[in-house]
Amino acid sequence: MYNVAIVGAGPAGIFSALEILKQKPDWKVIILDKGPRIETRKCVVRKGGKCPPCKNCNLLCGWGGAGAFSDGKLTLTPEVGGNLIDYVNRKDLEALIDYTDEIYLDYGATKELYGLNTESFSDIARQATLAELRLVHSPIRHLGTDRSTAVLKSMQDALEEKVTVLTNECADELIAENGKIKGVKTNKGTVVNAEYVIVAPGREGADWLAREFSNLNIELENNAVDVGVRVELPAPVMEPLTEKLYESKLVYMTPSFGDEVRTFCMNPYGEVVCENYNGIATVNGHSYANKKTDNTNFALLVSKRFTEPFKEPIEYGQHVARLANMLGGGVLVQRLGDLLAGRRSTPEKIAEGVVKPTFADATPGDLSLVLPYRHLTSIVEMLMALDKIAPGVASRYTLLYGIEVKFYSSRVPVTNELETKGIKNLFTIGDGAGVTRGLIQASASGVLAARAICSR
Ligand SMILES: Cc1cc2nc3c(=O)[nH]c(=O)nc-3n(C[C@H](O)[C@H](O)[C@H](O)COP(=O)(O)OP(=O)(O)OC[C@H]3O[C@@H](n4cnc5c(N)ncnc54)[C@H](O)[C@@H]3O)c2cc1C
Repeated sequence: MYNVAIVGAGPAGIFSALEILKQKPDWKVIILDKGPRIETRKCVVRKGGKCPPCKNCNLLCGWGGAGAFSDGKLTLTPEVGGNLIDYVNRKDLEALIDYTDEIYLDYGATKELYGLNTESFSDIARQATLAELRLVHSPIRHLGTDRSTAVLKSMQDALEEKVTVLTNECADELIAENGKIKGVKTNKGTVVNAEYVIVAPGREGADWLAREFSNLNIELENNAVDVGVRVELPAPVMEPLTEKLYESKLVYMTPSFGDEVRTFCMNPYGEVVCENYNGIATVNGHSYANKKTDNTNFALLVSKRFTEPFKEPIEYGQHVARLANMLGGGVLVQRLGDLLAGRRSTPEKIAEGVVKPTFADATPGDLSLVLPYRHLTSIVEMLMALDKIAPGVASRYTLLYGIEVKFYSSRVPVTNELETKGIKNLFTIGDGAGVTRGLIQASASGVLAARAICSR
């Protein structure tokens, strides 16, 4: 019998364990993750290989979750990276983010912060306004992939002395009785009894979470569905922004459809990578603190909030990604010039271009056969707006990889303490719950749930 069982050893799960141990050092805590320990996680795609794909994607699963090989940008504002502001008042949330950031620092995060120079920010914000873009202010601490892995490994070392860590063990079933959580059953048949359960399965586990919550008769709410592409271009094109802000969060309301498009996860001198969500290949990006490529990449995500009777936002994203996989056998890549000229890209055309793809395994193809017209139009309009503040963005050689999709579109109904409404003592946190979509808020959601549990 454990005091707390935590499903998922991503940032959300790890930070909840750290906080519980700080407040209740004598409690029995167990963390389950379906992936391996951090030092044994190996992703061949990151070494330039072809995605096998692994049964549990090594880029996303195991100690550290999606954070392990992430770019490690800690965006230190309530504005970015999640919806915690819906549960916590601004002042408390700012304090919670600072507290969470301190823990990253304690475990070895870099001290340097980008985006504090208000003069540079105002200057870029002005240029953005003239291009009808909104620049969101957000100080950023950049760890880089190498340091992210090291920080999360230190947390593993510190925690495994004090909590039970079960890796390669997948939570299969949430056990609840009379509206109260009792524990978790794994796919190996192990039953873990616990007074409290924290579920933090990340985007990779969002599908499983939706299934389990449906079995518990908990109806999920729809968040906006974020579908788009990853853009890759020569790093100097983005330097006017990245040199000063590192990452610029820009938001655009498109003229044709009035949809919101935003830049997401900008990686100066970084690499594009492939993720595998239960057999569906999608795209992402990261960068190293100590190793630079010639390119910068970032996502352009179109946010669409669907209305009744739509109920399957995760399935929608999977469907679009599957189309890209069907045509390209994985991730597709197209030059912007080819997209605008209405023709597919070919390996020869990509080779002629000035942007050498950092993800060599993508198949040159045609994104107009995959993305809905509405999304594609919005992406092209956003690229044209960005070209006004960073000339060269809309170059014919700019590469677009598809599909990038974020599986945080179903939101679990939770209280302000992140306890699941309808099931007592069951807390649902992080990206998989649809309450966060980035490292710092996912980690902060872990602290929030842990504090609530410890206070009872
Ligand atoms: C390449 C890449 C770059 C990124 N860069 C950034 C960045 O720079 N800044 C930023 O803020 N965010 C970034 N992110 C996003 C960030 O990593 C996530 O927002 C964050 O990791 C979410 O934390 P989480 O704990 O909610 O989920 P996750 O980190 O996804 O962890 C969930 C864990 O749960 C496990 N799990 C799932 N289902 C089960 C189950 N049924 N049983 C047991 N275990 C299960 C998984 O194996 C996984 O280890 C990036 C992500 C990627 C992939």
